[in-house]
Amino acid sequence: MAKEVIRSVCPRDCPDVCGMLTTVEDGRVTRVQGDPQHPITQGYLCGRFQHYEELIYHPDRVLHPLVKTPNGHTRISWDNALNLMCDKFSSILAEHGGDAILPYHYLGHMGIVSTRFPDRLWNKMNTARVGGEICAMAGIETMIRVVGQVRGTEPGHLDKTQMYISWGKNPKETNMHGWRFTKDIHPMVVIDPYTSDTAQAADMHIQPRPGTDSALAMGIGRCLVEADAVDWDFIAKFTTGFDAVRDAFMAMSLDEVTEVTGVPAEQIRAFAQLYAEHRPSLIHLGVGLQRNFNGGEMIAAISLLAAMTGQIGTAGGGVLYANYDWQLNDISHPELRTDGPVMHNMVHLGRDLTENADLKALYVYNQNPAATVPNQNLVRKGLVRDDLFVVAHDLYMTDTMQLADLCLPACSFAETPDLHLSYWHDYVNVNHQAIEPVGEARSNYWVTREIARGMGYTEPCFYESEEDVMLDALRGTGLDLEELRHRPVLWGDPDRTTFQDHVFSTPSGKIELIAPTFSPDVRSARYRLITPKTHHLQASQVFNLPRKFRAVKDPWVFIHPHDAAKEGISTGDPVRLSNRRGEVDLIAHISNRTQPGVLVSYMVRWGANANAVTTDELADVAGNSAFHSSYVDIERLADSAE
Ligand code: SF4
Repeated sequence: MAKEVIRSVCPRDCPDVCGMLTTVEDGRVTRVQGDPQHPITQGYLCGRFQHYEELIYHPDRVLHPLVKTPNGHTRISWDNALNLMCDKFSSILAEHGGDAILPYHYLGHMGIVSTRFPDRLWNKMNTARVGGEICAMAGIETMIRVVGQVRGTEPGHLDKTQMYISWGKNPKETNMHGWRFTKDIHPMVVIDPYTSDTAQAADMHIQPRPGTDSALAMGIGRCLVEADAVDWDFIAKFTTGFDAVRDAFMAMSLDEVTEVTGVPAEQIRAFAQLYAEHRPSLIHLGVGLQRNFNGGEMIAAISLLAAMTGQIGTAGGGVLYANYDWQLNDISHPELRTDGPVMHNMVHLGRDLTENADLKALYVYNQNPAATVPNQNLVRKGLVRDDLFVVAHDLYMTDTMQLADLCLPACSFAETPDLHLSYWHDYVNVNHQAIEPVGEARSNYWVTREIARGMGYTEPCFYESEEDVMLDALRGTGLDLEELRHRPVLWGDPDRTTFQDHVFSTPSGKIELIAPTFSPDVRSARYRLITPKTHHLQASQVFNLPRKFRAVKDPWVFIHPHDAAKEGISTGDPVRLSNRRGEVDLIAHISNRTQPGVLVSYMVRWGANANAVTTDELADVAGNSAFHSSYVDIERLADSAE
């Protein structure tokens, strides 16, 4: 029996970007393990993907192109699928121009080839484009405004960290390899409106009301000023704007902070004292925090604490949102574009599809917007428009695939090569193709190339090999593809400490402190709904994996005992969440993990999920999503428990 072990990379939208070893026997993947030689992975994959082979050979994999008919989806050949797409795209381009075609994608697969090679086609066709607003842009843009880069301390310096603050982050479930580096750091403080698994493991859990974290940061800042735990020398040399910051801190009393946040003043003082006493101290920010109407405001206010105590630039200390400043060569061939692009906000997909009749085609890849985008009903209504041609490229009949006019079978990581980087650690990795595509699955690379061929495009860039595309991406970086084939390579100086030189890529060259504000959310609906991640799912991925589905089959919504008593709700009751966007039926679970006034339902189930009621309004910075600023009513369904 032929058996070999292939070097692979987990392509999921996850900071850990694990190196993997894929065992192939007689052309079939039999086992996928964490790479023990990978400095971050250390031989361990998260529970979602310890049995990747089950996803590769899942009985529900889409194995052929499918076209929608009045009787459901029917198999067609790739030739016919390509002809259909090329005919549609050609006529749309001729009649309406490229703005009428919208490629819609995110990071369901994070490979550079899989995410960026299609950009060549979109540039050639002058299509509309989406930004990355669905997830992390408010935090990214705010960190750039404050320190000039999206960087913080390196994972390799976590052994120096004396105090770890997980703020709006749940690493035990969403950054498991980070958790392995930080779980033994004490004191550990978690600041989260919800009692996550990480919060349960912490020395201190601070539980502010959702969206009040900037007020909490102001209270902590005030305590630090009053205790003279401020690094005045650092502020004078390396920051701008601290006078206005201090004025804002002192303008809000601790009692007012407590009133707003619900956090006792004593706990705020205790935290400030711990923070003043421990150095280096790391504030690790989560993306969930910035998915609020005031997400940018909160990220900016929290980062003040690391700056005013002189922690930024210390190994293992400071504030870390992401390490996402790497620059690959642009492989999109922007010179192919002669017009546009018209930009669409990802969060507004439902609005765009239902209000903008000029959009005639939607091409979805690396995404499942019918499940993952807020205001789900509007998205679904848009996807079934008669005059909209929807193509979706995925491994399974996801919510989006079910609504698409044309479904294309996608490759798993094992079936296509790619190049991977992380937005947390600095290791670069190559994923080798381990097996031939299952059924007639094809990669984003292949489909892009074949559409280009069908459209009659002759530019050589469409016909480069995947290896050439990777080489193009690495051009000028100093990284060697041959070396990357054999091992993960740390990009950059292994001994570096971010900002140790105290040089910041801001207009002033200093940390540009933003005077903190607190923007109360004054809407009147009764319950705030937050939709955090769970370790059982990777966004909407693996929902169809039986061993995972068992854990998430009940669509729980967590409700505090106080609210449950008020609403007459018991654990196990069917309940309906509703607002003007729609309604969704879930099952109540009474829990002290949440707080009065706050409902919690994990993201993202297939089918109807909490996104039926999440808001598609935008955060204060970068047009980011504001999932966690959603408000709902809850009612116990009449026939429950009878
Ligand atoms: S989802 Fe993240 S932690 Fe899990 S295997 Fe993939 S990269 Fe590793």
